[in-house]
Amino acid sequence: MSESGVKRVRTTSWSAGPGCHGGCGVVATVKDGRLVKLEGDPEHPWNQGRLCSRALAMTQYVHHPDRLRTPLKRAGERGEGKWEAISWEEAYDLIEARMKAIRDEHGPESFLFTIGTGRDIYPWISLLAYTYGSPNIVFGLSGNSCYATRISACKMVQGDYMVFDAAQWFPDRYDDPRWVQPECIVIWGYNIPASCPDNLFGHWIVDLMKRGTKIVTIDPRLSWFASRSEHWLQLRPGTDAAIAMGFLHVIVNEGLYDCAFVEKWTNAAHLLRTDTGRLLRESDLRAGGATANFVAWDAVRSAPAVWDAASQAYPAGAQPLLEGTCEVALADGGRVACETVWTAFRREVDRYPLDRVAEITMVPAEQVREAARFYAKAKPAAIHWGVPIDMTPNMTPTAHALAALWCITGNLDVPGGNVLARFAFNAVAYALPGTKSVFAPSAEAEAKRIATDRYGIFKKFSLRAQTDVTLEQIFTGEPYPIKGMWMAASNLIGGLGQDPKRWVEALKKLDFVVAVDLFHTPSTQLADVVLPAASFLEKDGVRSWWVPLQTINKAMTVEGCKPDIEIGFELARRFDPGFQWESIHDLLDDILKPSGMTFGELQEKGWAFPPEGHPSAPYRRHEKGLLRPDGTPGFCTPSGRVELYSTLREEWGLEPFPIFEEPPLSPLSRPDLAAQYPLILSTGRRSPVLYHTEHRQIPWLRALDPDPIVEIHPATASEHGIGAGEWVWVENSFGKALFKAKVTLEVPTWMVMAAHGWWFPEEPGAEPSLHGAFRSNANNLLPMGYQGKDGQGAPIKHGLCRVYKATPEDVIHA
Ligand code: SF4
Repeated sequence: MSESGVKRVRTTSWSAGPGCHGGCGVVATVKDGRLVKLEGDPEHPWNQGRLCSRALAMTQYVHHPDRLRTPLKRAGERGEGKWEAISWEEAYDLIEARMKAIRDEHGPESFLFTIGTGRDIYPWISLLAYTYGSPNIVFGLSGNSCYATRISACKMVQGDYMVFDAAQWFPDRYDDPRWVQPECIVIWGYNIPASCPDNLFGHWIVDLMKRGTKIVTIDPRLSWFASRSEHWLQLRPGTDAAIAMGFLHVIVNEGLYDCAFVEKWTNAAHLLRTDTGRLLRESDLRAGGATANFVAWDAVRSAPAVWDAASQAYPAGAQPLLEGTCEVALADGGRVACETVWTAFRREVDRYPLDRVAEITMVPAEQVREAARFYAKAKPAAIHWGVPIDMTPNMTPTAHALAALWCITGNLDVPGGNVLARFAFNAVAYALPGTKSVFAPSAEAEAKRIATDRYGIFKKFSLRAQTDVTLEQIFTGEPYPIKGMWMAASNLIGGLGQDPKRWVEALKKLDFVVAVDLFHTPSTQLADVVLPAASFLEKDGVRSWWVPLQTINKAMTVEGCKPDIEIGFELARRFDPGFQWESIHDLLDDILKPSGMTFGELQEKGWAFPPEGHPSAPYRRHEKGLLRPDGTPGFCTPSGRVELYSTLREEWGLEPFPIFEEPPLSPLSRPDLAAQYPLILSTGRRSPVLYHTEHRQIPWLRALDPDPIVEIHPATASEHGIGAGEWVWVENSFGKALFKAKVTLEVPTWMVMAAHGWWFPEEPGAEPSLHGAFRSNANNLLPMGYQGKDGQGAPIKHGLCRVYKATPEDVIHA
């Protein structure tokens, strides 16, 4: 603090405030307790001083007059908009009493803990849920269709998640000699400069392009990157898996794959029984053989060779056959014909000749062929996908196909390729799928997590309840009743939950609802207690996802508001008599323990990168035994190899190879609906200035993007008599919503692209308006309950609709 009352605090932008997940380094200038400026930290290795408009507008955000500044208790009926201000102590006492009563009467699992995308909230809601005793953390999107799904899918195939390599692992970035420039990056359904991705930035790709990296874009929209791509494939939404299978078809049949990687690091040589279609296991060959051990055919001895999963090895001298068939004697005296996984994989791939791919995807065969060749011949090359892959019921098989691409082309965990992403120093602040933080649910609680009995991938990898099943359980009470909900920055009604009116009904069925947020939203209006939360500038925290490890440093306070970590900590102490931490800094120290640093020490440094040889630092960790807990080379999968054939999907009774499945609400699967609703509806148009449902009340940002937009091609607009800037209804069998037409060549004639997350803070909060939550809500047009076969993914980006001009009476907002 200088004499003038000004202080400059270096911190990390992480959730509440700008909203996104990048983790930019920022410097906050605070004068007499007020934020006067937020700047990009020029020394930060990730953003080097660059900053987005949402961060620059934090001066308007932090001190906004509409910010909640005291706990509120519902004074009228739920949704009536009547509130009584109470103290924090009163709020804590009330919440403790009501939540304990529900726990005593119905069990802790009957209380749900819902989150939005706020990244520095999940750890603390986990702390709260697990100390309370509930395993049911819920993310509102149908099919849990964002990020966690892709992590689960990647873990299933290759044991770890991955990201494209823009040298983000090194403080000196592109100058680091270990890094290699990618020759090609495939941007798959990703408007990356506007879409706030997790720990990846659009400007990194621009940096790479300036250095010579070429881009392939797969997207129905003409994005900024699409317009600057070597190849742009304008596919029909929801057909990504068919494009990926087409790529595999070209790469496999033209011999463009990395044979050494396929032989050594995938399960391509393992044998499949032709009678059951399942993997042959040692237990099939001899009594007492292990089911965890798979079998290959030794081309030297012309005999089966057991793949010992514990030692990750075949018998000495064995040379597993990669392609072909064989006959194997079984323990019961019978014989069975087998084929290698690679042989069966090739047959699957051959089901996607490019003329079929073209028919499915609407992309000409020659374009698919050229793009596939371009990607496969580029060394190194990376692929990165956006939420369209998560937001389809065929999510996991699509992710499987994409992972197969970077694996068989030898681009996994190599410099400039798809690099495995782990928490820096293994310090887990944020328990993503398959990773547990310093707090975890008890085994007894975990067994009751909603839908884990139904969906193997949720049981194995995801730490969340399956959303669609959760919503139904609120109504059915089966297998146990749901009585309460904690909503942390989770705007279920305003933009997160599909079928928002159903979510309103669901909330009204609950006995007790707590909302924690910075502003009132349509969802907070349906709570019993609302707690005013803090922005990232008002708290301490850590960010370890993925690298570097860095601290969030409190720069200021806003009277009356508290950070989620503090709220969670206080209530956790009340719920759990054995609560082990004395202070928040003790807890943060504990999270950071694997790094060998305390919170204070890391704060001094600002950020830290894991050293070479650490499992959270690249490259080629599978060769060095850095990935598996047993220290043997390989991956964290059941076979220890990248699984072109998924042993877990086999176990779960699902297609073990990647496949394409037609989306459930498409012109092909529902021609009856398409006759009425001939346009493809894609939702989730990203705005660089608004983050999901946030920022509608921030003047600078709203001025830049004032209205809910639907993008329509000029020919389609003209066919419907719609002019640029006119208000239109977008309608389908689920509902309708009002948007302003942006007439643009960015979308094809057969598709419209609608913005999501729209509500109007300036309109009344009480029902029926709920801040205008139902007028321009893209989720009116989207159902719950269409999740994928494994519970992952939902048809959020490929529905059907029609558009027509609104009447002047409809246009309240204009
Ligand atoms: S780009 Fe993302 S992480 Fe960086 S300041 Fe903006 S919102 Fe925060």
